[in-house]
Amino acid sequence: SERTLVLVKPDGVARGLVGEVISRIERKGLKLVALELRTAGNGVAEEHYAEHKDKSFFGELLEFITSGPLVAIVVEGPRAIAAFRQLAGGTDPVEKAAPGTLRGDFALETQFNLVHGSDSPESAERELKLWFPDL
Ligand code: ATP
Repeated sequence: SERTLVLVKPDGVARGLVGEVISRIERKGLKLVALELRTAGNGVAEEHYAEHKDKSFFGELLEFITSGPLVAIVVEGPRAIAAFRQLAGGTDPVEKAAPGTLRGDFALETQFNLVHGSDSPESAERELKLWFPDL
């Protein structure tokens, strides 16, 4: 069994889609280990997206992710990292995410793509430590 970090980003919280995301995680058979509503500060946001610090959209990305409350969730299960990426769909919600995925069903723009899920065991370990240091 494996753990992954899921975020329902501020767009998802603002649109009332937290229940939809949690419901799909549970119906897939994954388990919720920890869950918290919080607003990310600049420090956590910069660390979380460190790999994108040289990208043109980094400033906008930080502004967006810190713009309001998000829901941080520790999700556990067999192949949890890949399983949640499957539920989320591709990064671009129109070009890459299939219908039936969270992004395919509920998002239109890459920046406002509803959810985050760790993309590898190394990312998961780093992100879980960052968001849930006491776990
Ligand atoms: P996440 O890390 O949030 O799960 P991802 O792994 O699917 O997303 P990344 O390529 O790591 O995608 O990009 C991280 C986030 O940065 C995206 O989810 C999106 O919110 C934002 N982003 C990526 N590309 C762009 C872009 N071209 N313009 C604006 N925002 C972008």
